[in-house]
Amino acid sequence: MKAIIVHGGSGRFKQHKIERAKKGVKRAAREGFRILLEGKSALDACETAVKVLEDDPVFNAGTGAVLTIDGRCELDAAIMIGSSYEAGAVGGVERIKNPISLARKVMEETDHVLLVGEGARRFASSIGFEDYNPITEERLQEWKKLRKKLEAGEDVRWKKIRTLIKKHPELLSGTVGCVVLDDTGEIVAGTSTGGVFMKLLGRVGDTPMLGVGTYATPYGGASATGLGEGIMRMVLAKTVTDFIQMGISAQDAAQSAINLLTDRIGTGAGVIAIDRRGNIGYSKNTPDMPVAYIKDGMDEVEVFI
Ligand code: ASP
Repeated sequence: MKAIIVHGGSGRFKQHKIERAKKGVKRAAREGFRILLEGKSALDACETAVKVLEDDPVFNAGTGAVLTIDGRCELDAAIMIGSSYEAGAVGGVERIKNPISLARKVMEETDHVLLVGEGARRFASSIGFEDYNPITEERLQEWKKLRKKLEAGEDVRWKKIRTLIKKHPELLSGTVGCVVLDDTGEIVAGTSTGGVFMKLLGRVGDTPMLGVGTYATPYGGASATGLGEGIMRMVLAKTVTDFIQMGISAQDAAQSAINLLTDRIGTGAGVIAIDRRGNIGYSKNTPDMPVAYIKDGMDEVEVFI
C-alpha cells in the first residue's frame, strides 16, 4: 500500500494565500506520490514532497520562510525512517535552499542526528550545497511591519506569546510536513520550517526535535506544526505514534494528541499521521491547516484547509 499526506502548517492563512496554499500542498502530495509510483522509496517521496513545499514561497519553510526578530532566516528540518529509527535533522541553519535535503545528509553521511547553526551551514558547504538566500521580498515587508510594531511597544513580544499567537495566528502558519508509506511497508516522516515570526536568533522549535515535531516508527509516522514551545512540552509526534502502536487508528491518534495538547498546554497545533496499513490521520486546533493526501485506490489528491 502506498500513501502520502502533507501539511502546509497550522495557524491562520490570510485570505489571499488560501488558494495558493491549497495548490501548493496538492502539488507536493502529487509529486511525492509520483515518486512512489515510480517504485522509489518512502524516503525519496518524503524528501521530494517537502522540497516542493520548501520551494513554494507561500509556506514558512525554505524559500519565503519567516524571519527572526533581527531579520534573519534560520531554518529547521528533520527526516526520520520508521523501520530503522534512523534520523537526521538541522536547526537554525542559514542560507540554504532545502533544509530537508541537508537533514537527510546528516542522517546518511554523519554519525550524528542533529546539526545546528554555523556547524550545519559548514557541513552543507563542504558537501556541495550552494549558498542560497531564502528571504523573499514578501516576507521582508511583513517583517518590517512587525518590527515597526515592536519598536512602537506593541504586542509582538515573546513573553506574551500565547496572547500574541491567539491574536495573530497568521504568525504561525506555513511550516510544512509529510508522512509517507511505501509498498515495502516503510514509513518516513519529514518536517521543515522557518519557525515562528520574530523569534529570537538561536531559537529552535519542535520541528527538528525527534519525537516532538517529527517521528516515525515501524507502526506509524507523524509530522507536527504549530507553536513549537507548546508542541515540545507535549512531545506531540511521538504521542501520536505511540497511540498508533497501541492500536488506535491514525485519525483518532492525531485527534487525541491534539486534544491532550489543547487541554494541558493550550497552544495552537496541528498534526498529520499515517499508519502501516496506509490509514491517514490529521487534526488541528487552529483555524487552518492546508492538508493534501493520496493513496492507492484514489484517482486524485484530496485537499482541504
Ligand atoms: N512548529 C514551528 C515552530 O515552532 C512553527 C509552525 O509549525 O508554524 O518552529
